[in-house]
Amino acid sequence: MFSYRHGFHAGNHADVLKHMVLIAVLKHLTAKPTPISVVDTHAGAGLYRLDSDFAGTSGEAQDGIVKLLASPLAAAPPPLLADYLELIATFNPKGKPKIYPGSPFVTQALLRQDVKDKLWLFELHPTDSKSLATHVEQLHAGRQVNLKREDGFDGLRAHVPPVQRRGLVLIDPSYEIKTDYQRVATAIQESLKKFPTGTYMVWYPVIPRPEAHELPRRLKTLATQAGKSWLHAVLNIGQKPETPGEPPANKGLTASGVFLVNPPHTLKPALQQVLPALVEVLGRGRGQSQVIEAGG
Ligand code: SAM
Repeated sequence: MFSYRHGFHAGNHADVLKHMVLIAVLKHLTAKPTPISVVDTHAGAGLYRLDSDFAGTSGEAQDGIVKLLASPLAAAPPPLLADYLELIATFNPKGKPKIYPGSPFVTQALLRQDVKDKLWLFELHPTDSKSLATHVEQLHAGRQVNLKREDGFDGLRAHVPPVQRRGLVLIDPSYEIKTDYQRVATAIQESLKKFPTGTYMVWYPVIPRPEAHELPRRLKTLATQAGKSWLHAVLNIGQKPETPGEPPANKGLTASGVFLVNPPHTLKPALQQVLPALVEVLGRGRGQSQVIEAGG
């Protein structure tokens, strides 16, 4: 536990998918004038430097946001991607991507002070929760943003249903421990009973592990049993060709997925417009692919 630090992965292909979808969901929810509540069960440090020792060690942003920004797609992006790139640009006014916003900052950028939207953040890592607190302070967001160094799955129980009766639950664990997969499914099942109209978004890694493979299937079953609509999207950047005599080119995660319950009805067509183009740009070769499926 606690060997995962999101700083090593910030701005990678998985963050591109996750944060692009997160923005789309929040834009939809904030289009109505009534307040919303967002619970981010696994918040991370909030802001990341792409030129830090962390990010530099793995260089994962190079195969994510950095590659995307350098591509022709960034010059003429489809709407979903345009919103994402616009938000990233607000953190990097000089152009070159140096700062990458994590989910707390992506979310806060879309919340409204005047209608009293609220954000609840949970982060258990001692160092990352301290960094998150420092970063959040700089926002001067007052009571809009609430931070707790607690277990996010436990914290979630106390925050559904939210008083606002509208909102989003983002569950984005590091899956360092196998039980995270089970805890995600249980959290969705329990929360849907208490807050059936909420929107839920789960991120997961596509890795050769039975629990990871099983998770989207379990979530589909849970959503269907609850009579709720769902959407599942996967971005797989595939494998780079190996060069003989050089270090292995394919370390790290090649694919990840997001699973949503009660997604905006506009999300599926918007993803159909953008995901194939993203695979073209971020794809590294063998196995690159995408999935968009929905039901309910
Ligand atoms: N949501 C963040 C984003 O998109 O920028 C990234 C989060 S990262 C994938 C997962 C985070 O969850 C890590 O920072 C880790 O320390 C934290 N974590 C792990 N187990 C946790 C738990 N049970 N409750 C709260 N946070 C936890």
